[in-house]
Amino acid sequence: MSTVCAVSTPLAEGGIAVIRISGEGALEAARRLFKPFGGKSVADMPGYSCAYGKVIDPATGEAVDDAMLTVFRAPHSYTGEDTAEISCHGGIYITKRILRLCLGAGCRQADRGEFTKRAFINGKLSLTQAESVMDMISARGELTLRSARLTREGRLFKRIDGVKQQLVALLAELAAWVDYPEEDLPAVEDTAIQATLSGACAELSRLIADYDCGMVLRSGIDTVIAGKPNVGKSTLMNMLLGYERSIVTSEAGTTRDVIEETARLGELELKLSDTAGIRETSNTIEQLGVSLAKKRLDECALIIAVFDTSAPLDEEDSELLEYIRALDKRLIIVLNKSDLGARLTRQDFPGERVVELSAKQGQGLEELTAAVSELFGADSYDPDTTIFANERQKRCAEEALERLQAALSAAMLGETLDAVTVMIDSAAEKLMELTGERAAEAVVDQVFERFCVGK
Ligand code: GDP
Repeated sequence: MSTVCAVSTPLAEGGIAVIRISGEGALEAARRLFKPFGGKSVADMPGYSCAYGKVIDPATGEAVDDAMLTVFRAPHSYTGEDTAEISCHGGIYITKRILRLCLGAGCRQADRGEFTKRAFINGKLSLTQAESVMDMISARGELTLRSARLTREGRLFKRIDGVKQQLVALLAELAAWVDYPEEDLPAVEDTAIQATLSGACAELSRLIADYDCGMVLRSGIDTVIAGKPNVGKSTLMNMLLGYERSIVTSEAGTTRDVIEETARLGELELKLSDTAGIRETSNTIEQLGVSLAKKRLDECALIIAVFDTSAPLDEEDSELLEYIRALDKRLIIVLNKSDLGARLTRQDFPGERVVELSAKQGQGLEELTAAVSELFGADSYDPDTTIFANERQKRCAEEALERLQAALSAAMLGETLDAVTVMIDSAAEKLMELTGERAAEAVVDQVFERFCVGK
């Protein structure tokens, strides 16, 4: 395999930048452009060692920068190959210049995610572990990071592998019995087949269910703040965001755009849009906001419906409430302006989750946070649960589950063992696609295309 190089740190000014070289020719390339101080030679450096020295342009002998070189020897490196990392001064020009020297020393520019892809190809990581590397890089909260780290440690792989091993053991028994009838092997009991299949189905179902909650923690809750004009939607949004964002005026109908922002509520992240009210209007600009608002309501995961608690519910409030209830989404009723005294109470919204607050005075944030957290099961979510990193993994698990369920009902209906075997076999295949043990090249390529260069 060719030797590749890339800048592994962001291309921006900083204290240091790291240029990574990996492949058979990595140490030779490093030897050509890095001279350790004190007359040491790169060729003699053992794995996991560093040297301080200078980067030189081999063509002219000119010193380009003082830097550190770290050497890893195969297979004890991230990629499993010989690897050299040059930590130079973090200037954009210096970094690019050293990268060019690497290219001149026989390396080629690495593709997106190529270092991690090589780690996968060289058996250092499973596909699920490789995907978790990217999650760790993009993690914005502790829970996400923790779950990615657990996957990186191989927990997800072990759980999937556990299911697969059971299926493979069952397949082996079935095959022996079907293929060697004359051997007088004990028949595989129907109950044993069904027990193994239901166990596997249960484990996959659990993993799929955990994914939904995990996903919320990972990518944030798509949230719409809805309510008629002037109830305090923009003020509430500003309270959640912690700064003035939308224009707050006391004239009805001024929030016409759908503004999108992200607010962090404890461990949860809300992807917020403050929308126009849903009321019928003859003003065209406002109408545009109304149709956008309806679309967002259809797509979101959480609706925060705001009412002005200092005034009784009017027809417009009731229409909105009716519209929102019909959407059957997760819903929190906010009774805003509690500082002005309450005309509305929880009793006006039977069966709903109600939070009273004053957005203007910044009161009630804890109650709102608790309500969201409870609604999404974030409190009972076990941060040590291993979850799928992405839709690809989840889809594989869902397809495997479907095939296993089909196998289970076929077994219960007394269909031939041949037919059941084929279904179990195809489920096991799907699980191996999930872990990458048997993923088509196209699937693997797609996974690594999502990475950044240098990782
Ligand atoms: P929107 O049209 O629903 O976005 O409402 P705004 O956020 O623009 O607020 C309308 C008016 O209500 C503004 O004058 C706000 O200052 C006021 N307001 C918002 N929240 C509160 C609150 O909790 N208490 C009081 N007293 N006034 C509020």
